[in-house]
Amino acid sequence: MESTPLGNDGCQGCPAMCCNGLEEGIIRPTTAQEVENLKWELYFVNTLVFIRNKRWYKMSTGKCRYLGEDNRCGIYETRPQVCRDHNPPGCEFHGEIADVMFHDPTELQEYMDMEKQKRQAKKKARAKTQASNKASAKPVGKSKK
Ligand code: SF4
Ligand code: SF4
Repeated sequence: MESTPLGNDGCQGCPAMCCNGLEEGIIRPTTAQEVENLKWELYFVNTLVFIRNKRWYKMSTGKCRYLGEDNRCGIYETRPQVCRDHNPPGCEFHGEIADVMFHDPTELQEYMDMEKQKRQAKKKARAKTQASNKASAKPVGKSKK
């Protein structure tokens, strides 16, 4: 019986990437406290945070206990449904796992600062446009004779 991690031809040549990290969806941090909490999680060397298609994820690196030295699933016949549902080409081996990856607290803080600057610049540009629209929409007063 086939025993590549997910038993699919598309898995050939892959070092069982999906069996070497556990990812879970998380809520995008918005408040300063949420950012601090997530930064703290990145103090741990086996934790990564990333954004993919605008959604945030946390990944715990480390291999599944049932992954063999040969990168094959040791419980292939009884592997969980979540493993059965994870198939190429919609997986990390065949595409980018992340649009943005944070390896440590500094990278996350820099990203949050950059996003804040972008938001402020947008707000400023919007206010400027509104002010100029208002000015140009002023009715022209009648001239006194
Ligand atoms: S990451 Fe993709 S190609 Fe690699 S084992 Fe998992 S499903 Fe197969
Ligand atoms: S159970 Fe098998 S397929 Fe699932 S993560 Fe572990 S080694 Fe990979």
